[in-house]
Amino acid sequence: MIFGKYINKYYLKNAPILILGLAALILVDYFQLFIPELYRMVINGMNGDPVLVNGQAAVFDMEFLLDQVCRPMIITIIVMVVGRFLWRVCFFGSAIRVVTDLRTCMFAHSKELSQEYYQVNKVGNLMSLYTNDLDTVQECFGDGILMFCDALFLGLLAVIKMWRMNHFLTGLSMIPMAFLMAAGTTLGKYLMKKWEERQAAFSELSDFAQENYSGLAVIKAFVKETKELMMFRRLNRENEDINVEYTKISTLLNIMVTLFVESVICVILGYGGYLVYCGSFDAGQLVEYIGYFSAVVWPIMAVSMLIEKTSRGKASLNRITELLDAKVDVKDRGGVQDLPSIHGKIEFRNLTFRYPDGEYDVLKNVSFTIEPGESVGIVGKTGSGKTTIVDLLLRTYNVPDGTLFIDDHDVNTVSIHSVREGCAYVPQDNFLFSDSISGNISFAFDDENQEAIEDAAMMSDVHDNIAEFKEGYRTVLGERGVTVSGGQKQRISIARALMKHAPILILDDSVSAVDTKTERTILDNLKKREGLTTILIAHRISTVEQMDKIVFVEDGEVHAVGKHEDLYRTCTAYRKMVDLQKLEEEAGEE
Ligand code: ADP
Repeated sequence: MIFGKYINKYYLKNAPILILGLAALILVDYFQLFIPELYRMVINGMNGDPVLVNGQAAVFDMEFLLDQVCRPMIITIIVMVVGRFLWRVCFFGSAIRVVTDLRTCMFAHSKELSQEYYQVNKVGNLMSLYTNDLDTVQECFGDGILMFCDALFLGLLAVIKMWRMNHFLTGLSMIPMAFLMAAGTTLGKYLMKKWEERQAAFSELSDFAQENYSGLAVIKAFVKETKELMMFRRLNRENEDINVEYTKISTLLNIMVTLFVESVICVILGYGGYLVYCGSFDAGQLVEYIGYFSAVVWPIMAVSMLIEKTSRGKASLNRITELLDAKVDVKDRGGVQDLPSIHGKIEFRNLTFRYPDGEYDVLKNVSFTIEPGESVGIVGKTGSGKTTIVDLLLRTYNVPDGTLFIDDHDVNTVSIHSVREGCAYVPQDNFLFSDSISGNISFAFDDENQEAIEDAAMMSDVHDNIAEFKEGYRTVLGERGVTVSGGQKQRISIARALMKHAPILILDDSVSAVDTKTERTILDNLKKREGLTTILIAHRISTVEQMDKIVFVEDGEVHAVGKHEDLYRTCTAYRKMVDLQKLEEEAGEE
């Protein structure tokens, strides 16, 4: 059995079905213990010894065999088959439901966690929580209840029956069992530690494999296949070593169980034989006693398995608990309201920001205002803080009070969800899902409106490219489908944002992979959207020079804000950057 703050409630939730399973299990255990009695009657009858039924001597004949042996045996078998089926369905079915609920819970929580969490916890590790660890918890929940209850009821009933037959022999048989319990508990703790190490080694291996698949092109381009293979072998070997170590201990535990069980059988045969010799036991009673002990063997083995499974289950549950305990640090404050319909005014007011794990302020005293419907370009060197500015607007991180306003509402006083609803975002990496092109473009909606999808694709100048694909908008992208070029990816990503029709459009370096003619077409199309507040992060000045306003960022500070011509005239650093880019372009053309 496995307990923990995220799993305890499921015992209560599944209580009726678990109780039904438990009743079936107890019934099976109870009936199962009639079988040794039947053995005794048959052996004693065949030997000519007195056959006792409920303490009364009976005549051993055909009628007795049919009535007192065959009939109870058939009933016992029927009860055992039906009961076993029932408890399996109840226990294992509940375990599947528990893990399904837990998985949903984990996924829902994972979605709430901030970027910071995913920077520390890699995808491979998270995937192993959803596979290996959940499987272990499922096994531990279902098998755990079964083994615990079976060991308790069957073991206890059988020991009581053995005790009633002979106190001394039963006392003697229990001594090795006590040793087994002590050894099992000690080894169980060690097993749990080893299982944790095993899961950590497996996570590291999954992380490495996952990263290698993602970066395969880079590895090949740098001819580093051998280096990566060596690294993989090392991790695989570490994984193997810890698995072998774990298996050694669990095998030791199993061998110990066999050793103790066999030693008890020796005791029973030796001392029981002596009792038969002295006349205190007859042959049938000895067989009956051994029959009860055989019934105790499974509970004893179950105890050792239970120790092992619980150790593994606890280690896996600890890892899952760590995920579920991870703090959601970007969340709504109590009582916040949704933003009313957004007009698109954005104001940064003396905003200073440092990443949660950062050592310096990435943005310093940033102040500028974007009026509704304005188009604004953010330019600056790489690492100057441009992406951070839009990330804060999208509430990916927390911002200090009184520093960021949308339509004059402090973003901390309105719901995060409504802020994000008001923004359409084209991320720098232009991530697309392994879905059809139309599914990707209409991602913001539950259903696909073909006309709107094509409109958005036309605005982002990707319609003609899509039409050339054999399956057009139905073409599946990514792992299961075709690979599109960087420029096509960017434009599909822009179409996805445009289709959302949000009042604020944010494009983070989103036209860098398209040629200048396509870039101009897209930017001209954007101008046609009336009242749309557009923020465009760009490297090429030519991309933003026609915008209503340019925000020039240097080392986390807003150096200047204004129209291109004004900045070129008044801001030396901006002028230098523009001139340098022009020189580079001319050199490139030559
Ligand atoms: P830009 O978009 O202008 O290239 P960014 O806004 O991406 O710049 O980054 C600004 C600075 O913040 C850089 O020095 C970068 O290293 C740092 N930075 C970016 N993301 C993180 C993060 N998640 N944690 C810590 N520092 C970060």
